[in-house]
Amino acid sequence: MIKAALLFRSAFWEEIDEGRYRGASFFHSPGAAFPTFWTALPERVPLLVAWAGGPKAARLARAAVPEIVREAVASLASLFGGKGGVEDRLAAAWVHHWQQDPFARGAYSYVAVGGHRARRALAEPLDDTLFFAGEAADYEGEHGTVAGALASGERAAREVLECG
Ligand SMILES: Cc1cc2nc3c(=O)[nH]c(=O)nc-3n(C[C@H](O)[C@H](O)[C@H](O)COP(=O)(O)OP(=O)(O)OC[C@H]3O[C@@H](n4cnc5c(N)ncnc54)[C@H](O)[C@@H]3O)c2cc1C
Repeated sequence: MIKAALLFRSAFWEEIDEGRYRGASFFHSPGAAFPTFWTALPERVPLLVAWAGGPKAARLARAAVPEIVREAVASLASLFGGKGGVEDRLAAAWVHHWQQDPFARGAYSYVAVGGHRARRALAEPLDDTLFFAGEAADYEGEHGTVAGALASGERAAREVLECG
């Protein structure tokens, strides 16, 4: 996963198209190098986070940081159809390269084709002795998130109580 935090001189997306995007939390552009952006709402700051995962992140990972920033800005510019003067308003950018981070080495768990039962199997207690929590063991739809990790911990704790 690659994230680029893009700081602009102003929150241009709040201004264009008569303020239509003022309340937007996410922008999606499936065909772009960076397909997802999010704002800092409820904070109103001129910052967008560009996100790419999977094969798109692997491709971007081969590029140098300035090229990654250019790709993020180009993705955003195409998303808004050239409105907002995206390129000229960029003030600073920070790239977070999680595949190459020695303490992360990747991102979240994912299920391969045909693995729709995998999370439930992973979360199955062993001999009423070992109980499993963690985002990968959440099967209620919040996997890959802190919320999923917390929910799986509560679920595992309930299983321990039920067995005592
Ligand atoms: C780059 C990135 C961005 C993310 N952004 C978001 C976000 O914006 N919002 C969101 O909700 N989620 C986000 N997530 C996902 C979220 O961080 C995880 O889903 C969550 O932290 C998982 O919690 P966990 O307790 O399952 O695992 P972890 O937080 O990974 O905890 C596992 C712990 O076990 C320890 N450990 C591993 N092996 C051993 C061992 N053998 N012995 C002892 N300890 C061990 C590890 O050191 C670690 O401390 C992001 C993840 C990444 C990588």
